[in-house]
Amino acid sequence: MSHISEIFGTNVFNDSVMRERLPKATYKALRKTMDEGLPLTLEIAEVVSSCMKDWAIEKGATHYTHWFQPMTGITAEKHDSFINPTEDGKVILEFSGKELIKGEADGSSFPTGGLRATFEARGYTAWDCTSPAFIKNNTLYIPTAFCSYTGETLDKKTPLLRSMECLSRNAVRVLRIFGNNTVKKVTATVGPEQEYFLIDKKSYDKRKDLIFTGRTLFGAKAPKGQEMDDHYYGSIKDRVSAFMKDLDEELWKLGISAKTEHNEVAPAQHELAPIFSNANIATDHNQIIMELLKSVALRHGLVCLLHEKPFAGVNGSGKHNNWSLTTNDGQNLLDPGKTPHENAQFLIFLCAVIKAVDEYADLLRLAAGNPGNDHRLGANEAPPAIISIFLGEPLTKILEQIASGEDICTNKAGKVTVGVSTLPTLPKDTTDRNRTSPFAFTGNKFEFRMVGSSASIASPNFFLNTIVADVLEQFADRMEKAENLEAEINCIIKEVVQKNGRIIFNGNGYSEEWVAEAERRGLPNIKSYVEAIKCLLDEKNLAVMERQKVFSRVEMHSRYEISLEKYIKTINIEALTMLEMSKRQILPAVINFGAQIANSINQIKSCGVDADISANEELLKEVTSLTSQLKKEIKTLEEKLTKAQESNQDTYEQGMLYRNEVLVQMDNLRSVADKLESIVDAKLWPFPTYADILFNI
Ligand code: ADP
Ligand code: MG
Repeated sequence: MSHISEIFGTNVFNDSVMRERLPKATYKALRKTMDEGLPLTLEIAEVVSSCMKDWAIEKGATHYTHWFQPMTGITAEKHDSFINPTEDGKVILEFSGKELIKGEADGSSFPTGGLRATFEARGYTAWDCTSPAFIKNNTLYIPTAFCSYTGETLDKKTPLLRSMECLSRNAVRVLRIFGNNTVKKVTATVGPEQEYFLIDKKSYDKRKDLIFTGRTLFGAKAPKGQEMDDHYYGSIKDRVSAFMKDLDEELWKLGISAKTEHNEVAPAQHELAPIFSNANIATDHNQIIMELLKSVALRHGLVCLLHEKPFAGVNGSGKHNNWSLTTNDGQNLLDPGKTPHENAQFLIFLCAVIKAVDEYADLLRLAAGNPGNDHRLGANEAPPAIISIFLGEPLTKILEQIASGEDICTNKAGKVTVGVSTLPTLPKDTTDRNRTSPFAFTGNKFEFRMVGSSASIASPNFFLNTIVADVLEQFADRMEKAENLEAEINCIIKEVVQKNGRIIFNGNGYSEEWVAEAERRGLPNIKSYVEAIKCLLDEKNLAVMERQKVFSRVEMHSRYEISLEKYIKTINIEALTMLEMSKRQILPAVINFGAQIANSINQIKSCGVDADISANEELLKEVTSLTSQLKKEIKTLEEKLTKAQESNQDTYEQGMLYRNEVLVQMDNLRSVADKLESIVDAKLWPFPTYADILFNI
């Protein structure tokens, strides 16, 4: 057996472990719960927990934790040991069914966005048996959902699970209409490609901005950037490959199929893509991947940066969220397929995605946003902030033909045809043609390319699942009632192409022309994350989330508040870090440099030789003038920051102050500091430069 297959999944309480260890009846009951979402009885939980505990202890675990995903975007855990004291002063190792299925977690220590005021502060975690438990650092991790005591969701997993349910329900309804009577469940499948930077820990430790904010707030461009294209798919350096090898081992043990790893466009940038799985497991796995990237890097004296834009002027990092729909018997619903009935079915699912993405573009824009991603979207390195769909020419043409009046029908050979052309077997798009599209159809799946590298993929997926589910529900209602199904299908496709076709764009998404064209088409161009957050309160968005029972209105309001608060806190920390670095590091260094030049001028003068000191004098002038400018910009930033901090307007207006005043002034301050960096004695510069950081691994 190969090494990989020997270690793969060894630390996961997966299906084969359960089958082997659980009594047959328990296994069957648990499987039913997992597959069909039936409630779990405490009796079953007792048997499972005891088996799980024995398995975990055999593997060296001493503790267990309910692992959950609060709205901070990262995961949280609270460790308890299995130890229970007995009367004779000894201990026994215990883990009850109750402890498996439910845990207490203080709701008020995590963001609640006002829910706390309205509801109880206490929260609880509930076992998600559809994502397998695993062992990490001698601890048994139990994936859980996190709710308030009154049932409001306080995390990212609950809405994801709810969205998967409504998507499945409505997709199955549509399949029934197409004559499929066997399918039980449809799952959203997700494969997220994760980009990240690796830098030396020694450089990292010397930069307060990286430590406090995850990105550099200062830094002049290095003489060399990514222009030579010599890093992309370049050979992987020894130190990095040792890291990747170590990481792979860790991931494999946790049953995470890290498949491709390569260098990315920017220097020091890399990518990791696991094989896709269902949206829930993919989201959990992506969280584990992000955590392990960081911890394994440290073992190698490296730091992994997950921030969307750690270095200005250098490509940032994203996460391509590959998404499709798969039936429980393995049929990919976004695969055009070869038989006619599959083709019509495919077109209906395709149109559901098109309609959903067009009508809820603002929600998807929001889902891809965070303070870090504002530096990427629309900056010609990532898709623009305008949502559009790349379909490719053949598919677009077919839809256009249908829209222009040519019905799809079945020809003699049994193929679905549109006028004269037969729906072709579409080539899987593996080229770079769709690189500039935020939402690209790549042959049998969509690639949502806007998502940020540091973000949880839960929200892009729960919004996507929900809006597609809602459209499928509308389609199913119509098709179920239709007297002539074929005519109704034609009608639906036509309507979608006519009303929502504006979202389809196969051209260059980075171009100026597209921005203008998108505006003509009436597509939203929401430039900043703060502005995007507003759409959480939009009536159509509140309504769709409520209709599909993914979020109540109260829960949407709480997400709105939390998102704004997170934005404000992030920019506030960045501004404070900038002030600290400029006042206590940069300013002293440049004043020192000015003094050195002044000294040199005095010394030369005092020698009495008739030397040309114009160079020294010019440099001194330049340095002192930039220094005084720096001081002014610092002062302005302090004023703007105070104004934003003390604003007693509502959270949205306060967020806009941070965005339009604080962030803008941060750029002004940075540009003066970066100018100074390029003329000040390298020995005096107080922290490592871009050249030091990006090219020393
Ligand atoms: P790329 O050209 O973008 O590198 P790949 O074929 O390597 O495309 O796939 C990228 C990601 O898409 C991988 O994580 C892969 O597992 C995932 N993927 C492939 N098929 C599907 C699918 N049906 N649903 C979801 N993700 C998928
Ligand atoms: Mg990709």
